[in-house]
Amino acid sequence: MIYIVIPCYNEQEVLQDSCRQLLGITETLGEEARLLFVDDGSSDQTWAVIRSLSEAHNEVLGLRLSHNVGHQRALWAGMEAAVELADAVISIDADLQDDIEVIPRMARDFREGADIVYGVRKGRREDSWFKRQTAQGFYRMMGAMGCQTVYNHADFRLLGKRALRALLSFPERNLFLRGLVPTLGFTERIEYYDRKPREAGTSKYPLTKMLSLALDGVTSFSVRPLRLISVTGLLFVLVALGACVWALVTYIESRSVPGWASLFISLWFVGGVLLCALGVTGEYISKIYTEVKRRPHYFLRERAGDWTHPI
Ligand code: UDP
Ligand code: MG
Repeated sequence: MIYIVIPCYNEQEVLQDSCRQLLGITETLGEEARLLFVDDGSSDQTWAVIRSLSEAHNEVLGLRLSHNVGHQRALWAGMEAAVELADAVISIDADLQDDIEVIPRMARDFREGADIVYGVRKGRREDSWFKRQTAQGFYRMMGAMGCQTVYNHADFRLLGKRALRALLSFPERNLFLRGLVPTLGFTERIEYYDRKPREAGTSKYPLTKMLSLALDGVTSFSVRPLRLISVTGLLFVLVALGACVWALVTYIESRSVPGWASLFISLWFVGGVLLCALGVTGEYISKIYTEVKRRPHYFLRERAGDWTHPI
C-alpha cells in the first residue's frame, strides 16, 4: 500500500487536474495506492474540492489542518496520518511541477529494497533567473554551514515504512525535512527528472517563506554560526596584537596625536575579547541546543532470529 501525501495551500486551481493525473498514474502502479490531500489552512475552496474528490473516488482521502502551518508541517501531518496504514509514503507538491512519471520508478526502487528514494531535478532551466540563483545559493550555503542536503532535491521523495517511522521519531519543532531525511541512513536511491513550470495558480513560496525555510535549515542543523563568532573574536585579538605593534611604533616615533595609540589599541583589543567571550557563551549554547533537540541516537534497520523469547 502506497500513500501519496500532497500538501495543499490555496490550490483550488490545480487540485482537480492534479488528482486526475495522480489517479491515472497510481492505476499503473500494481500496488494499491491512496491519495492523501492535506489542506494546510487554505482560505479558498481547496477543502471543498478535496471533499468532493474524496466523495467521487474511494482512493482519495483528505486531512484539514486548523490553520496554515507551512509546507513542512503539513507534510508531517500527512505522514503521521499515513505511517501505520502505508508501506511507503510518497510526498509531492500539489501543483505537480515534479514529474509524476517518477512515481512508478520510486515504487519499483522500493520493491527492490530502497528505503528512501529522492526525486532530484536535473536542472533549473525553467526557473526564473532569480529563483535559480537563490535556490543554488541556498544549497551552497547549507553545505558551507554544515547541513548535508541532497543537491536539487526538494520534497518529492518516497519513504518506506522503516525510514518513515525513523523520521517521525524526531521530536523537534523546527522541521527541515530536506536536512533530516539524509541523516536517517538506510538504503537510499536517487531518481532524476525534469521539473515543469506550475500549471495554474501562483507559487505559495514567496521570498519570505524561502528565507525562513533556509534559516530553519541552518539553525536547526548547524552550530557553525556560533563557532564563527569565536573565530572572528580570535581574529580580532590577532589584529589587535598587530595593531599594538604598529601603534607603539607610531607612538615612539611621535607621529601620533596624543591619546590615539591607547584608544586605537583598546578599541581592537576590547572588541576581540568581547567577541571571544560571546563565542565561548555560544559554545555552551550550542551544547544546550543539541541536547534539547533530543534527537534519536540510532535507528534499527532490521532484526534477525526469534525475538519473541530473547535469551
Ligand atoms: N504549501 C503548503 N503550505 C504553505 C505553502 C505551501 O502546504 O504554507 C504547499 C503548496 O500547496 C504546494 C507545496 O507546498 O503543494 C509547494 O509550494 P509551491 O509549489 O507554491 O512552491 P514552489 O514550487 O513555488 O517552490
Ligand atoms: Mg510548485
